[in-house]
Amino acid sequence: LVELKGVNKHFGDLHVLRDIDLTVHKGEVLVVIGPSGSGKSTLCRAINRLETIDTGTITIDGSPLPAEGRSLARLRADVGMVFQSFNLFAHKTVLDNVTLGPRKARGTPKKDAEEAALTLLRRVGVENQARKMPAQLSGGQQQRVAIARALAMQPKVMLFDEPTSALDPEMVQEVLDVMVALAKEGMTMIVVTHEMGFARKAADRVVFMADGQIVEEADPDTFFTAPTSSRAKDFLSKIL
Ligand code: ATP
Ligand code: MG
Repeated sequence: LVELKGVNKHFGDLHVLRDIDLTVHKGEVLVVIGPSGSGKSTLCRAINRLETIDTGTITIDGSPLPAEGRSLARLRADVGMVFQSFNLFAHKTVLDNVTLGPRKARGTPKKDAEEAALTLLRRVGVENQARKMPAQLSGGQQQRVAIARALAMQPKVMLFDEPTSALDPEMVQEVLDVMVALAKEGMTMIVVTHEMGFARKAADRVVFMADGQIVEEADPDTFFTAPTSSRAKDFLSKIL
């Protein structure tokens, strides 16, 4: 479903993505871990074309991501993204946050968009907050709204970039639970996270990045119990 081939990206002299080859199949949950600065966020942003790449190709469901134009908007709509900071529109209600994308980008009528939004908000457990403003919600609730907002566009793949690392500890699990449920429903997901519980429970495959390269790739059991590279061993010894 998502395929990266020979992807390279520089920020000036800094080589942030080095010859990245990566395929994510439909329904697969890929967890990406690695030290700070290894290029995980840049990888996510490149897949969503929030960031350009220097060389290589990225295809989503068979369509190469074009550099710009109308079809870029459509392809980007196929990729839902949830960031570390919730990025909700602060001056709009929860319901408006979730309906805005479908109404603007897909031309969904207001009533239909709101019906779909309420269903999604129920799914992530915040349907009672629909008329509130984001600031009136807890961090965990806001992040669940952000997930509902991304799902409202009916994406083919969901990208999560450290979705729980800005949350107070007691709110981490409620967001992870929503993500686990989504994974079980068969959503294709790329998840940057250091939440090893989530990786063990939901990941089909773990990718370890260091210095812009994919250093190791394995199923979660193998990766966490028997990493092969010294970089991964070193990293795991610090976080586990
Ligand atoms: P973290 O775990 O801290 O989120 P990361 O693995 O997500 O790290 P990236 O954010 O992808 O890492 O950054 C990779 C490298 O690229 C870092 O050295 C970072 O400083 C650099 N970088 C990221 N964005 C930019 C930018 N817009 N301009 C210049 N350098 C950047
Ligand atoms: Mg990052």
